Amino acid sequence: MSPLSPRDTLVYSVFAVLSTLTVLILLAGAIVTAYRGDPMPRQSVDAAQRVTAAKNRDVLAAAMRSYAVVSAKRTPRLDIHTFGLPASDSLNSAIEAHVLTMIEESGAFADRAAFDPVRTAPAHRWPTAAFAPAQTDLDDGRSSRVDPRAVDISTRVLAGGGHFVVTAVDTDSPHQRTRLLLTDLAHDRTVDARRLFAAPVDPAAVGADDTGTLTIDDDPVSDTDLSSIGDRVQKALHSALELPQPGDQRSPDFSCALLPCVALTYDDGPGEAQTEQKILDAADEADIRLTYFFLGQNTDAAPEVAERIIDAGHEVDNHTFSHVRMDTTPSTTNRKEIDRTGRSLRSVGVKEQPLIRPPYGALDKRSAYGLGGPAIIWDVDTGDWQNKNAKKTVSRVKSQARPGSVVLMHSIHPSTAEAAPAVFSAVADKGLYAVTVRELFSGITLKKGGSYFCRGYADELCSNPEHPAVMKN
Ligand SMILES: [Zn+2]
Repeated sequence: MSPLSPRDTLVYSVFAVLSTLTVLILLAGAIVTAYRGDPMPRQSVDAAQRVTAAKNRDVLAAAMRSYAVVSAKRTPRLDIHTFGLPASDSLNSAIEAHVLTMIEESGAFADRAAFDPVRTAPAHRWPTAAFAPAQTDLDDGRSSRVDPRAVDISTRVLAGGGHFVVTAVDTDSPHQRTRLLLTDLAHDRTVDARRLFAAPVDPAAVGADDTGTLTIDDDPVSDTDLSSIGDRVQKALHSALELPQPGDQRSPDFSCALLPCVALTYDDGPGEAQTEQKILDAADEADIRLTYFFLGQNTDAAPEVAERIIDAGHEVDNHTFSHVRMDTTPSTTNRKEIDRTGRSLRSVGVKEQPLIRPPYGALDKRSAYGLGGPAIIWDVDTGDWQNKNAKKTVSRVKSQARPGSVVLMHSIHPSTAEAAPAVFSAVADKGLYAVTVRELFSGITLKKGGSYFCRGYADELCSNPEHPAVMKN
């Protein structure tokens, strides 16, 4: 808070006296009318700001989503707790970029080109309220825990109000460092928050008090501490927080470069309406998005089922028109199969250029290049089409799905639909985030002629370092 000017001090004194009188009169049981048009006493301003700041913190805690990357077993040990704020992509990417840089500096990438995401059971995540500044109990012992072979990172919101949020990313190890981020929620832009201040400040010394006023070494900032941007932001921090409308909240806020993701894919549909509906209901319940590879002929036969799946927000891609084996089919026929299916998909509402999954995963170099784009294969085959056994499908996912996996299932079988709820919860229980194929590969350029089996970290097919592409010969 800015220091009181002599005039303010006078006003303050007068109103302090008036407030006292008011209380006395109230105590005496008299009826007191409000002093209309008079400025509020200092305590009232603070009290009002305290209420606003508390409300803003509650709004943030309700909107924020908690993420954790924790592994005590690996070297370096990882203990990363952070949050995502839906519809604030710039903030989420800034946090993720910082976290990945810290992990890389600690040597956790080893000789790989990519970080190997850690599965962390949901129980290890912090409640989102813990990321708000008022709650510091989880910070106990943080600063004493500097271990050069560990990566300790946590994020917290210092203050949020208007369409601004100020966030701190605290790294305790391998180096003690705090990064301050200023996010303009209205324009989804995140910049270094040191620009809030007129002179250089130690980011670690910056905080906020319970009125939403920024502090330096626990002292409220004064007008002279702030830059012109800082002044504007500080005023906004005292007003009600305006969060942007979040888009599709089913997707994680961080990319699969940091989080352990799995893409759950369903081929050969759209199938019989009731069977497909079971899978849709389970996905709704689990709050996840799936990826479907439709056959053109089935799409044409059941457009209403296809539309229902697309309307539910799932990703729908191309599995040829009539399930041809592309490595033994002439190129012109393959092309027709793909193009005709592309038209079928567009007619039911698919907007994006569909990705292609060749039936049986069968491709040679000729047919692979003939696709004109990448081929999406899988690394976990549940065998659901063969077993027709829900339990077996679930146990395959449980035992084989790992960070970066693409899981193959078929939405046309009732046993597969029956398995869906258990498949989805098995994935979540393992700390894996279910994402669409496009989300799984975000940040990676998919090459024409390449076959992609998984995001790729450890498997032979998916290779190591991050090398999801296999060129067929
Ligand atoms: Zn198929």
